[in-house]
Amino acid sequence: MLIALVSGCLLFARLPVHARTPAYDLLITNARVIDGSGNPWFRADVAVKDGRIARIGRLSQETATRTIDAHGQILAPGFIDVHTHVESIYSLPAAENFVRMGVTTLVTGNCGTSTTDVAEFLGRIKDKPLAVNLATLIAHGSVRRRVMGLGDRAPTPEELKQMEGVVEQGMKDGAVGLSTGLIYVPGTYAKTDEIVALARVAARYGGLYATHMRNEGDKVADAIRESIEIGEQAGLPVEISHFKISNKKLWGQSPMTLGLVRDARARGLVVTVDQYAYTASSTSLDSRLPSWLRAGGLDEAKKRLADKATRERAINDTKDALKKSGFKDYSFAVVASYDVDKSFNGKSIAEITKQVKGKSDITSQIEQMLEMYEAGGAGMIYHGMDEADVKRIMQEPFTMIASDSGVRQVDESVPHPRGYGNNARVLGRYVRELKLISLEDAIRKMTSLPAQTFGFRDRGLIREGFAADLVIFDDNTIIDQATFDKPHQFPVGISFVIVNGAPVFENNQMSAARPGFALRGPGYIELHPQITQSPKNNLRNLWIEAVAQVLTRM
Ligand SMILES: [Zn+2]
Repeated sequence: MLIALVSGCLLFARLPVHARTPAYDLLITNARVIDGSGNPWFRADVAVKDGRIARIGRLSQETATRTIDAHGQILAPGFIDVHTHVESIYSLPAAENFVRMGVTTLVTGNCGTSTTDVAEFLGRIKDKPLAVNLATLIAHGSVRRRVMGLGDRAPTPEELKQMEGVVEQGMKDGAVGLSTGLIYVPGTYAKTDEIVALARVAARYGGLYATHMRNEGDKVADAIRESIEIGEQAGLPVEISHFKISNKKLWGQSPMTLGLVRDARARGLVVTVDQYAYTASSTSLDSRLPSWLRAGGLDEAKKRLADKATRERAINDTKDALKKSGFKDYSFAVVASYDVDKSFNGKSIAEITKQVKGKSDITSQIEQMLEMYEAGGAGMIYHGMDEADVKRIMQEPFTMIASDSGVRQVDESVPHPRGYGNNARVLGRYVRELKLISLEDAIRKMTSLPAQTFGFRDRGLIREGFAADLVIFDDNTIIDQATFDKPHQFPVGISFVIVNGAPVFENNQMSAARPGFALRGPGYIELHPQITQSPKNNLRNLWIEAVAQVLTRM
């Protein structure tokens, strides 16, 4: 009997390790860890449990449901892309173009366009799960449109109050801040004081101010000053979107523009910027046309353009703008998507004009643009920046890497390649090939700096207790493949992308997992104190807990 008991105990003690319940869900071994802080890489294994990083260390003896051998590749926090336009993400929930460049969290609602019902937008994730985490800004342009339409006028006091109300509700529902797009209709018609009033509301709820500035060309310095003024008057951090100089005459002036940001920081204002790693921008065709023409929307503009003298005035104003931009014609302006005639996609305005009209003087080119605008408009790529400025901006400590992209359907139109390659391009071209910044600093710009800026308290670093958003890549091979001619090409060198502990990309393909969380801002969290209670190890509570993991800014 005694012998049987003892041998029974021995038998139990000798049970092979794998027969016990594994200690972890996922174990990543043999990794070179770049933790997102900017510190140099170190060797470690990382264990994941219940969607979180449970342990970091020498863990090869530990048990896990699944083990991934990183074979000495880099393990980094999943990339946080703070500048996206993914309002349509629920129709492409895999967000493949983002995931395949290592992105695990998206911030949308940028450049003045967002949902005006943040609760509905973020809440949809429960029924339509996503591969990535999602946060949104509440956007001034969309709020203004909802309250006042597309008119070129100031709001009445009553309308301003209504707009403040929509922003307030958006912040309470979990927006991470207010965005503006001050070159677009109707955002462009807002004066500084209107934006300050709305930014004050965002500030009350711990949000930040993210802006596509009024000007990125000849008046870029004034536009930076306005952004800073809004931050100082409203009392909230400022994030300048897609920081650039898109005026040829001002190429090389980035030390001056960066200096304006540094000065504001020296005065105590939190200002950061984001950037994509290309010398071309991408936006609508009509953003090149005078704002007075676009007031009230397309139908109004068409009526104006039917009048010969007004059309002439539009052409002359556009000509002036071109002259100020330092470009001699529109050969730098390439069509990305034109629904009326898809054969225009990939061609410049100068080429299209020549093809359509048999000549391509400036007036004909502008006439061609007006005709395309009247036919419904086009998405464009503008090759308007200087590589030296792009590099200088990238080297600045407060610059984040962000794509400015939407979710992409493979082979649909000829969009900017940044939506497929941005992060991989930074890591392959600017880190490995050009040695412009260190690998660790590049990762910091994609992870902990965005997390700090947008208040994702438990993301952007490899730390015990943090969300297990992770990417494994080969720093010797990672590179973008998307080009302006052939943008629908995924990068190479990325082995695994993991969101909240679940691999969403491996073996060079997307998995079926949709583990993304909605990340709600501090306004929501203050109103829902119960969600800050300690988490339980079940999915529902994890989901709720993730909601709570957005930092209340000081
Ligand atoms: Zn923008």
